[in-house]
Amino acid sequence: MKAVLDHVGIAVSDLQTSLAFFKDVLGLHVESSEEIESQRVRATFLNTGQSTLEMLEATAPESAIAKFVEKRGAGMHHVALRVDDIDAALVHLKARGIRLIDEKARPGAEGALVAFIHPSAAHGVLVELKQPAAKVELFTKATRHALGDFELITLSDGFIGLDGGAMFGVVPRTLWEKRLPPDDSNRIPLGMRPLIVRNGNTTALIDAGCGDKMDAKLTQIYKLDRRYHLDHALAEAGLTADDIDIVVASHLHFDHVGGFTKFGKDGAIVPRFPKARYVAHRAEWEDATHPHERNRASYLQENFVPLREAGVLTLVDDATEIIPGVKYRRSGGHTPNHQVLMIESRGKTAVFTADMYPTSVHIPDPWVMGFDLLPVDTLTFKRGFAPEAIEREYLLFFEHDPSMAAGYLREKDGKRFVERVI
Ligand SMILES: [Zn+2]
Ligand SMILES: [Zn+2]
Repeated sequence: MKAVLDHVGIAVSDLQTSLAFFKDVLGLHVESSEEIESQRVRATFLNTGQSTLEMLEATAPESAIAKFVEKRGAGMHHVALRVDDIDAALVHLKARGIRLIDEKARPGAEGALVAFIHPSAAHGVLVELKQPAAKVELFTKATRHALGDFELITLSDGFIGLDGGAMFGVVPRTLWEKRLPPDDSNRIPLGMRPLIVRNGNTTALIDAGCGDKMDAKLTQIYKLDRRYHLDHALAEAGLTADDIDIVVASHLHFDHVGGFTKFGKDGAIVPRFPKARYVAHRAEWEDATHPHERNRASYLQENFVPLREAGVLTLVDDATEIIPGVKYRRSGGHTPNHQVLMIESRGKTAVFTADMYPTSVHIPDPWVMGFDLLPVDTLTFKRGFAPEAIEREYLLFFEHDPSMAAGYLREKDGKRFVERVI
């Protein structure tokens, strides 16, 4: 077991007077401050280089810190050691008969997992083990992939922060937070990855991210990070908006079609791709233009109604071939007429899975988003689709995965996993 000093915990009776010394006199920098509801404590971290000082102030009389201060006065409270795998560390300690306060790891500050060793087993020192929240690598690079006669180019329209609970439905946080750690507001970082599909004649774009029409309030709520967005991605791919011949919607939620339109010079909303024909599924269009309380916040009319007004919209039905080799396939579930795109050439198949597999973390069949209107329909589709994708080696595109654009679904010893390609 390898352990590194992470921080030293100091119980304080009054944070402000303590900071007058540690911050103002010693000149230490306050890094962050966070209330840990479950512990009835406010933790304030001071940077000391390799490790930190954690000032702990009780927020309620029943807090362990309040009791500690009452009994022994303010002062050193614990030493925290960082480990890579806290579950393995606890197994290691239990096997040696070490007395633990926490038999199981529990959530601590900054999305970490923590567990305490009893001071009686650690020579009078209260020792905290801490496994920091995994850092999510954010991937944006425009990347090409040849699929038969097609060239596929995965693009990025930046990142959006959506509620982790809503993204994973009935799956408990303890299971998903290790893969996609949430921020203080429980939001997880998600990519928005449109896909270019081109052959010698046609350049098609599937979905277009959230675009740039969101106001400051929504930008903040959704934690939009568009420092790198679709215009950058198109430029990186050597393309401009004028090069796009067809724009295809998987479904009409704002994080997929916000980039279909933009503000024109006079403030009117106009198609973003001036030479393109836009394609949407007819029944999805009906749902999107007649929203109800449950889906209204996702169907923002300014993203698609101007396309009809501009006369550039084509509505199609199930299984329509949009360009030779590119077809809609209805998955339903997420919205009743949510479509994945099947892209086939010379015996090879790629699938743009949109919100059916929003990320590679959503591979297990029951890991279905809480956002889905008909989650059992999503489950039914996934059950049939996964064995097919494994057997036929479909290249799957994950539109919302923050770190991975595409990969193959594999199965080994009864376990499914994604082999990353892009
Ligand atoms: Zn959606
Ligand atoms: Zn989405």
